[in-house]
Amino acid sequence: MSDEVQELPEREAMEFDVVIVGGGPAGLSAAIRIKQLAGEQEKDVSVVVIEKGSEIGAHILSGAVVDPVGLNALIPDWKEKGAPLQTKVTDDQFRYLGPGGSFKIPNFTMPPLMNNHGNYIVSLGDVCRWLGEQAEALEVEVYPGFAGAEVLYGDDGAVVGVATGDMGVDEDGKPKDAFMRGMELKGKYTLFAEGVRGSLSKEVIANFELDENSEPQKFGLGIKELWEVKPEQHRPGLVQHTLGWPLDNKTGGGSFLYHFGDNLVSVGFVVHLNYVNPYLSPYDEFQRFKTHGDVRDVFEGGKRVAYGARAITEGGFQSVPELVFPGGALVGCSAGFMNVPRIKGSHNAMLTGMMAAEAAFDAIDQGRSHDVLGAYAAAYENSEVYKDLKRVRNVKPLLSRFGTFLGTMIGGVDMWLNSIFPFLSYTLGHKKPDYKCTGLAKNFAPIDYPKPDGKLTFDKLTNVSFSATNHEEDQVVHLKLTDPGIPISRNLPEYAEPAQRYCPASVYEVLDDESGNPVFRINSQNCVHCKTCDIKDPAQNITWVCPEGGGGPNYPNM
Ligand SMILES: Cc1cc2nc3c(=O)[nH]c(=O)nc-3n(C[C@H](O)[C@H](O)[C@H](O)COP(=O)(O)OP(=O)(O)OC[C@H]3O[C@@H](n4cnc5c(N)ncnc54)[C@H](O)[C@@H]3O)c2cc1C
Ligand code: SF4
Repeated sequence: MSDEVQELPEREAMEFDVVIVGGGPAGLSAAIRIKQLAGEQEKDVSVVVIEKGSEIGAHILSGAVVDPVGLNALIPDWKEKGAPLQTKVTDDQFRYLGPGGSFKIPNFTMPPLMNNHGNYIVSLGDVCRWLGEQAEALEVEVYPGFAGAEVLYGDDGAVVGVATGDMGVDEDGKPKDAFMRGMELKGKYTLFAEGVRGSLSKEVIANFELDENSEPQKFGLGIKELWEVKPEQHRPGLVQHTLGWPLDNKTGGGSFLYHFGDNLVSVGFVVHLNYVNPYLSPYDEFQRFKTHGDVRDVFEGGKRVAYGARAITEGGFQSVPELVFPGGALVGCSAGFMNVPRIKGSHNAMLTGMMAAEAAFDAIDQGRSHDVLGAYAAAYENSEVYKDLKRVRNVKPLLSRFGTFLGTMIGGVDMWLNSIFPFLSYTLGHKKPDYKCTGLAKNFAPIDYPKPDGKLTFDKLTNVSFSATNHEEDQVVHLKLTDPGIPISRNLPEYAEPAQRYCPASVYEVLDDESGNPVFRINSQNCVHCKTCDIKDPAQNITWVCPEGGGGPNYPNM
């Protein structure tokens, strides 16, 4: 394969002031902020944003209840400009579910930071589409359908840009008729805004040892369906979260149900990826959740209109790596600014995008390039984002140590204490990365999940068809196994090959060959780009790399 690549024509290069990888809230906010500053100071600064989805928003999956603090800072007149934030939160409920009932956790027990009043229920994909339009109006060059496939380094080791992936390469790595060589996009600064577990961000974190002094990053897997429900079941503005059933007390996670728009309900389930039982299937836990007596009525007579999944960062404050390195910076969830108890990261993604933008603009204005944007790191440490994450830093470690029930109670007390006494400095660690938490199959029994009924609960493949996922089939498989033998020789006997169950898109299967021997199959065309396999594989043998740009899910409004 590498021989083939060497024979390919040289890539064309384009020069920009700032190259931004990823057209989510972080990347688009960074792009808009640079152009705003350039406009105010009548400077000419060129900015390009590349996005691997077929359009801006196509790969965005979130809840989403959005704290508008980010948007207020970026575009204060967003309402007048028609931003798609229409449903204000009017009711905020937390419930603890048992198998046969539930109890409401009184709102007054929650610290004020958990309050959702003043927030909006949105489709984050639609918000990003709108941000994309704002960016283009400011002459940001926005290129959807282009995947950042390679980090470019200068002779001194600084990042000097990225290369987009080649298009039209067959599964053996050979150019097809429609072959198109990738482009080199060179910038004075490159901002990595790829969201959770960004493939290029992962490389720069490792290359520059950015996580040397931070705790391991932690993750959850969020699986979501969008439903159109009957008008009598719709309560626009209602935000409902649950903990507990169907997960056991040792497995972290919970659900969200957000009523918004025209009879729409976003329903999703997050499973913390430090779960131990290798037989657990986050997808099937989600399906089972919808059958609970307290929630199933919402969906009665309604229809599921979209499906998708995405990992979520959960390490928080103590897992944020160093943000800057020569030639670039990490912004948004590529660095992990998610506030776990609030289940909110989009506001921090926007705010950190803006901070990095301001640092990059100033540096360029001073005639600098390819050095360290120390001003961004300093701005973060003095920011509301830092405070937002610091207040809740012990919640995730407490959940991991004490389980959902006790961990939530102690976590609540800890959030109160940290809200009242912000000078408290103790920080609990996460101990180990999620892939090291998976237990041996011999210590667990397989879980017998109920069969889907096709009305309220669905099988994975049917649901994947509601993500409108599409990959050119004849292309290099983008799920790279370092050792192709490990799934069968090690993961199967030790962990009953958990990829079959944690992948929410049925990409991984263990089948029997003609002789009855197990074989590992990768249906890469189903991949919804959630990145869970890259995180949870117990052998860390799977590396997710960008497939051809434009491939993957085509979420309408997730
Ligand atoms: C199930 C779930 C529920 C959530 N609920 C909420 C909520 O209610 N409220 C809230 O505020 N937050 C919520 N979040 C978190 C929120 O979605 C994130 O914090 C936010 O989207 C992060 O923004 P980002 O720009 O950093 O990354 P993303 O939104 O992930 O955007 C990154 C973009 O970069 C693109 N990209 C990635 N790699 C490349 C590449 N190499 N080349 C080109 N393009 C690339 C991706 O396709 C994507 O479009 C939720 C997340 C999940 C998964
Ligand atoms: S293959 Fe990996 S990234 Fe793709 S859907 Fe499955 S777990 Fe997610």
